[in-house]
Amino acid sequence: MNEPPRLSDLHCHLDLFANPESAFEERESMSLWTLSVTTTPRAWEQNQKWAAGREFVQVGLGLHPELVAERADEIGRWESLLPEARFVGEIGLDGRARNRPSLQVQKRIFTRMLDLCDETGGKILSVHSAGAASEVVDLIQSRLRSGGCRVVLHWFSGSSSSARLAAEFGCFFSINARMLDSTTLSRLLEVVPTERLLIESDAPFLRGDGGKGVLDDLEKVVRVLSQQLGLSRAGVVQLVHDNHGRLLG
Ligand code: MN
Repeated sequence: MNEPPRLSDLHCHLDLFANPESAFEERESMSLWTLSVTTTPRAWEQNQKWAAGREFVQVGLGLHPELVAERADEIGRWESLLPEARFVGEIGLDGRARNRPSLQVQKRIFTRMLDLCDETGGKILSVHSAGAASEVVDLIQSRLRSGGCRVVLHWFSGSSSSARLAAEFGCFFSINARMLDSTTLSRLLEVVPTERLLIESDAPFLRGDGGKGVLDDLEKVVRVLSQQLGLSRAGVVQLVHDNHGRLLG
């Protein structure tokens, strides 16, 4: 690849911005490669329209674990759209107290999704694992057996041993501006090889500004990674750019 290295955003929700259409347009005009995930398969069609013809914005087909309790019946729709999708997300498990009651249903749905992705192959998954990291890593290891899909763990906050298992399996990790406190990040960097690091904004959720501070947030991640890894800013941008290329392979 001869393109100059640039920042990318491996997990955000452009369809939840106040003005989604202009959010898609803005990413394109900034040449900021973006994976915009969805939280329900009902959003797919409209998101595909917003993304049509764009080079820098890709849409993920999702069913967010926090919505599964109410929307488990949308799995059928998700399945029927899967052949159209190269990117999948936001999917995963959420085991935090408020979502515990639906954890069994979440597991059933997530397992089904992983099985279908594994069968089809060629998918890139952005996976949520808040409060359920070890369960998520277990399922990824046991269900994605063919090796035909790649996984990005979004906002990973699990234990070092879960991170190590995930890294050994080949997972990537997308780092956002809320993960930068030194102990969280340095523990992760101890076990995750640098060639698996990516960056994300999770906009518009990290700030109350409707997603305006995206570049600031991405730059903040780059800055902290450069301190922790002992690389220049340009070195981190190049690293993340190369990793992104590897992910898309
Ligand atoms: Mn998200």
